[in-house]
Amino acid sequence: MDVWTRVDSYVAETLIDADPALEAALAASDAAGLPPIAVSPAQGRMLELFARMIGARRVLEIGTLAGYSTLWLARGLPADGRIVTLEAEPAHAAVARANFVRAGLAERIDLRIGPALDLLPGLSGDAPFDLVFIDADKPSNPDYLRWALRLTRPGSVIVADNVVREGAVADAASADPKVVGVRRYFEGLAADPRLVTTVVQTVGCKGYDGFALTRVGT
Ligand code: SAM
Repeated sequence: MDVWTRVDSYVAETLIDADPALEAALAASDAAGLPPIAVSPAQGRMLELFARMIGARRVLEIGTLAGYSTLWLARGLPADGRIVTLEAEPAHAAVARANFVRAGLAERIDLRIGPALDLLPGLSGDAPFDLVFIDADKPSNPDYLRWALRLTRPGSVIVADNVVREGAVADAASADPKVVGVRRYFEGLAADPRLVTTVVQTVGCKGYDGFALTRVGT
């Protein structure tokens, strides 16, 4: 086990209480053959903390998979809070839905199935969202940023995962569509004076990657 994974395990064992619903969600994801690309427990806790720190009541997630990050975000909401989560793959959504029911959080989570760019135009009635978590197909990140800005308000926070890509994001010559998508996302962030952004590079059981954290200003 590499040192990053050892530290992630130590952090999780020491600081993050075991949660049967979250563990069952990961087990169900594995059993259904979904890829092991959910956030780590420490990253999930970070999402929960972000929701709590800004007092989020409405959250939008793009990219559900088995709903592991959704459950962490739901844990960070008050009882009347609500998450809309978008997932293109019906098989992923089916596992997620069962996970939400098992966790007793289905009431708080509105799972919509389809390509996010088809679903986002229908969310204006649910806006403004206090927190948007972008974690789907990276080439679409620039479009997701445009939608996130339409569906948020001054003070909202936008979080995007997997923006470092083992350092490949710094390669201006990269032809990888995921890297290009993330770089264009950054260009969109940089071009809008209302947005204040940083990137937190992450290591751990999910390898070397990072989150972009953005606050929408006036
Ligand atoms: N957020 C999840 C977590 O941490 O537990 C992981 C999400 S996984 C990295 C990305 C998910 O986005 C996959 O389930 C994939 O099917 C979904 N996805 C990919 N392209 C999409 C699209 N265009 N619209 C909606 N979902 C999409």
